Amino acid sequence: MKLARMIASAALAALISSAAIAEGTVGIAMPTKSSARWISDGNSMVEQFKAAGYETDLQYAEDDIPNQLAQIENMITKGVDVLVIAAIDGTTLSNALENASAAGIKVIAYDRLIRDSGNVDYYATFDNFKVGVQQANSLVAGLKDRFPDVKPWNVELFGGSPDDNNAFFFYNGAMSVLQPLIDAGDIAIVSGQMGMDKVGTLRWDGAVAQARMENLLSANYTDKPLHGALSPYDGLSIGILSALKGVGYGSGDMKMPIVTGQDAEVPSVKSMLAGEQYSTVFKDTRELARVTVGMVDAMLKGGEPEINDTSTYDNGVKVVPSYLLEPVSVDTSNWEKTLIGSGYYTADQIK
Ligand code: BGC
Repeated sequence: MKLARMIASAALAALISSAAIAEGTVGIAMPTKSSARWISDGNSMVEQFKAAGYETDLQYAEDDIPNQLAQIENMITKGVDVLVIAAIDGTTLSNALENASAAGIKVIAYDRLIRDSGNVDYYATFDNFKVGVQQANSLVAGLKDRFPDVKPWNVELFGGSPDDNNAFFFYNGAMSVLQPLIDAGDIAIVSGQMGMDKVGTLRWDGAVAQARMENLLSANYTDKPLHGALSPYDGLSIGILSALKGVGYGSGDMKMPIVTGQDAEVPSVKSMLAGEQYSTVFKDTRELARVTVGMVDAMLKGGEPEINDTSTYDNGVKVVPSYLLEPVSVDTSNWEKTLIGSGYYTADQIK
């Protein structure tokens, strides 16, 4: 009798303590480790979910779509409570999410919208249109500053991966600033290549952007200078800058064109300080993690996740309720305050 009671109370204690230990398990599917931002995203989420009492299963898919699908299926089989997904290709997850929904698993689209599925509960991201606006504004500011007496400025456009919904928001945001200047004859797209179908860069691959820049230079710029390149992501910017340096820009009397970027990755911050890349856009991944953890916590506890946008992100099946964070345009004038002052990087990391 005494023994039975002891066993029963031990079982009860175990039950109580396991309830106290884990609020639930969160499967986190990230696209790739080849870009530092996704590593920060993953690390911040694991840290913040743990602090809120959740267990996590964090997976990276190295930009391979079947790999990411298998990871998500596996998380569903293991019975996670929530999936947080930054999709490689935002259109390939419909079947997997059907299974998630059947198993009662909630889904958050992280940074990138998941398209063509009704089984997406919330979307946590930055104001992606504004990212593009900031990139174009910085491009124009740089052109005015470095090439004050030139008209038109010769510019080439680069877009992100066409399977990433964000790429269209970045491009459209940028074009909302650039198109009027093109129409007014202040900017010339010398190659004539415009529109995401012409300027997109599959899988955000820097080598692809570098090769395209090399071709653009040899086909269009042997008798005239390039003044600027719209680049939506630091990894592409580094490739574009390599192509430019390869034909002599940035030395002698060939001024470096204005090249934009996104993510404030360390090599790009260093490049800005060396006078190469002109600007980037900082998106604080710690904040995105915080918003996401808050959404998950509210969903699992029957509360209302905080959202601030219910009209922008139509995924083809539904408008996904979203929380949009503010991006910050960064150049040599504000990098220190923004990136070091906020504790995102230490000064040593930028040396
Ligand atoms: C993200 C950007 C990132 C790009 C490439 C986009 O979906 O929003 O921050 O630069 O993917 O990884």
